[in-house]
Amino acid sequence: MIPYASWRLRHQYATLPPYFYAAVCAAPVCAPRWVLFNDELAVDLGLDPTSFREEALPLFAGNACLVGSRPLAQAYAGHQFGHFAILGDGRALLLGEHTLPSGVLVDVHLKGSGRTPYSRGGDGRAVIGPMVREYVISEAMHALGIPTTRSLAVVATGELVYREAPLPGAILTRIASSHMRVGTFQFARHHEDADAVRRLADFAIARHDPHLSEEPDRYALFLRAVIQRQAALIAQWQALGFVHGVMNTDNITISGQTIDYGPCAFLDRYDPDTVFSSIDAYGRYAFCNQRDIGRWNVARFAECLLPLLHDHPQTARTYAQDAVDAYSSSFQEHWLRLMRHKLGLFDEADPADALLIDRLLEWMHTHRADYTNTFVALTTGHHDALCTSKHDVAWHADWQRRVHRQARPMQWIQARMQEINPCIIPRNHFVQEAIDAAESGDMDKTHRLLALLKNPYAYTKEQEAYADVPDRPYRTFCGT
Ligand code: AMP
Ligand code: MG
Repeated sequence: MIPYASWRLRHQYATLPPYFYAAVCAAPVCAPRWVLFNDELAVDLGLDPTSFREEALPLFAGNACLVGSRPLAQAYAGHQFGHFAILGDGRALLLGEHTLPSGVLVDVHLKGSGRTPYSRGGDGRAVIGPMVREYVISEAMHALGIPTTRSLAVVATGELVYREAPLPGAILTRIASSHMRVGTFQFARHHEDADAVRRLADFAIARHDPHLSEEPDRYALFLRAVIQRQAALIAQWQALGFVHGVMNTDNITISGQTIDYGPCAFLDRYDPDTVFSSIDAYGRYAFCNQRDIGRWNVARFAECLLPLLHDHPQTARTYAQDAVDAYSSSFQEHWLRLMRHKLGLFDEADPADALLIDRLLEWMHTHRADYTNTFVALTTGHHDALCTSKHDVAWHADWQRRVHRQARPMQWIQARMQEINPCIIPRNHFVQEAIDAAESGDMDKTHRLLALLKNPYAYTKEQEAYADVPDRPYRTFCGT
């Protein structure tokens, strides 16, 4: 256990050329207080939560710096809703890299810590509601088994932040495998230093794919590794019914972790066209588009690496194209495996399984059935609601026949289905209820929700109370 006083952060990102970042200190705040602190994550980081919590408040509020620390804002670019822009951490800082007990490095990052040279017109601040939301949803995603950034703490600043109305300010401390994004590579590609992409790629390989460092074709292998991670990640989002909401290339990580929980939300009544975000007027990031947007995003990444793939431009383009094409087959493979498991199919795939899945999705769409609860019903054997017409009975009979073909006891199948079909997800209205209470200083609802979300495959009575589906469609706002 490392108490705060001896907490040493490394500063490897600062070894990149200076145009990749700006050295900035957090802007101090007037009256910091803890809103949330993640004791379990602190332990995983090798910290002693009690002494750490006692001493870390000024650090996470931006009111103190560790001795020798070199906080920085990272530069990046990105396609925002398809339009290229030069961006950067406008309200966030990388405090440094922390070494896990396993020896792996993770980024320690503040969000809402004040203005930086990349703030453009923004105030550099964040509001308590969206920071609690990111904390709850990212921790829920982690418990669900989805690669994600983690939330270590939320600190209220005691200051007001002006959005449509004055709102209480807050800072989130985020832990990530790294904060390198597709947009970081787009920034490098855009830079006049011809060697910028290579330096960034070498840095990223050392961090995320060190086994490739010595390979002669390491850049092509790195491209494939990043693409594979995105395909696997987005297949997991789809299987879970998660809508990210802002899949801009600046919100797509090289590590394959989900990042930047803005207007994200989970499907309730199944509709593939679901869009939650109020700013996504044309549905670019609708649930059914996430797979193809993922491909578009990794194609932007592949473009950045072109000069490293081969000296001959045409050969480089062929490498890149093949790697991007592999995204689609890899996505399909992951998605089909996950969906088969959700349906209790653990044996060798039958070509007809895909049709069985499609028919169920169609049924959910027609009946406006809740995505998560439908799989819970299949898991627990409460099938009545799934058989309201002759057509439904036919699907159900086909499914049962297929499941029983596996020569496995039903109990075994149900136990495995329970490991993949969560009985609780962070449903929008419950998260909102917790946030509303948190904004007025009452953290009980948030703590209760967090406790239940920690074991999403437990199927407890208490979790059942969080299965209610609201009648009104939910809207999320970027108003962060
Ligand atoms: P996001 O929508 O959170 O992914 O942010 C997109 C870009 O806008 C990033 O470069 C952010 O750093 C920047 N940004 C968002 N909110 C603010 C803010 N309040 N002040 C400064 N920059 C911001
Ligand atoms: Mg972002």
